[in-house]
Amino acid sequence: MRGEQPVVVEALKVRAVPEGSHDSLLEFLRLYRDAVRLVVNDLWNLDEKLSRKKLHEAFYNKLRELGLRAHHAKEIYVYAESIVESARANSGRKPVLRKLTARIDKYDYRLDLDTTTLTLKLHNDYEVKLKLLAPRGRVEKFRGWSNYELAVKYDGKGFWATVYFKKTVKPVKPKTVMAIDVNFDNLTLAVFTLNGRLVRLKRYKTQLRKVLTHRIWVERLQRRYAKSWRFVKGVGRAIEKHGKRIKNISWDYAHKIGDLIADLAFKHNSVIILEDLKKLRENAKKGRTFNKRLALWFYRRVQFCVEYEAKERGLLIVRVDPKGTSSKCPRCGSKLVDNGYRTLRCSKCGFIGDRDVIAVVNLYKKLTLRPRCGGLGVLLNAPEPDENPSGMRGNRDEAMKNTSNYMNLYES
Ligand SMILES: [Zn+2]
Repeated sequence: MRGEQPVVVEALKVRAVPEGSHDSLLEFLRLYRDAVRLVVNDLWNLDEKLSRKKLHEAFYNKLRELGLRAHHAKEIYVYAESIVESARANSGRKPVLRKLTARIDKYDYRLDLDTTTLTLKLHNDYEVKLKLLAPRGRVEKFRGWSNYELAVKYDGKGFWATVYFKKTVKPVKPKTVMAIDVNFDNLTLAVFTLNGRLVRLKRYKTQLRKVLTHRIWVERLQRRYAKSWRFVKGVGRAIEKHGKRIKNISWDYAHKIGDLIADLAFKHNSVIILEDLKKLRENAKKGRTFNKRLALWFYRRVQFCVEYEAKERGLLIVRVDPKGTSSKCPRCGSKLVDNGYRTLRCSKCGFIGDRDVIAVVNLYKKLTLRPRCGGLGVLLNAPEPDENPSGMRGNRDEAMKNTSNYMNLYES
């Protein structure tokens, strides 16, 4: 990791409409495909894998004679070689190329984000200008990224462009640790300093009750029309509608919360701790009931979004085994029992706390007590003084009532 800047890559795939005639672009795509075919055929008859230099010697002039540009030629023989290699490794059958797709080097196109137009350099010095049909916001995001390669495709009806962007992110040096716990009703997050002081505690309602209502509707319909719902139009449509709502609610929410969490983590320079869901599955019989499965499914989506957003901001993510985080006393490690009102009590030392907050405290402790990789070792060896006690302001969440309990745990 050291010295190496993490790179984020993302593709923008959009419909592209040529200004004026389609003809030269279609002609180019056919020429391009035929050129790839030609190289594939030649390579297929060889028994060896050619080096870049040999590929160049064998095909460059041939391809240039077809009217292709220098970088087209390079893209084509490299692409053909990769097709042949993967066909040999997979099926052993000679690949058949039908699709009209061209990969284009950054030297052969110009992308204007202001007007969302793409200018492609084609064979025989033709040029084509394409209007990209993308919403402003989706394009705006890539300002400041660098674009490096592009694929243009014809699907029989229209053209598609996929532009690949990349950006190097500056890794954030961790100053705090953020732990996140998700259960059916709440998503709880806590930010701790490296020496264990809680500086931020937030609780968000999940949207799973809403999801559950739609789910119940679906089940009710399926039960009532047990034999026919697949075939009765109105019922099928209603089920589909509820299914769509479930999807939208959970994705929207996961995106929003992922953004929000990553922003907050960035502000606090946090390492983000997430539960390792693979471990969660291994740990005995959790997730039996439907609600628990739903919460797990939701957490997976949130994790996906958090991870994506965090990576873009150069934040580090660590996964810990969630075993015991919601059942063990954060003070003495004994088993906790239900104490009513979403609180848990330790039968051994008498500790009482909010169950969501206990979970995030335990997650935090897992990270600091059992360092696994170099990064965390550094974290442990270089504790820094509390720097943001004002982070406590504005937290009116009821979970805060008990924070004095947790703060005591880390006083050294
Ligand atoms: Zn205890």
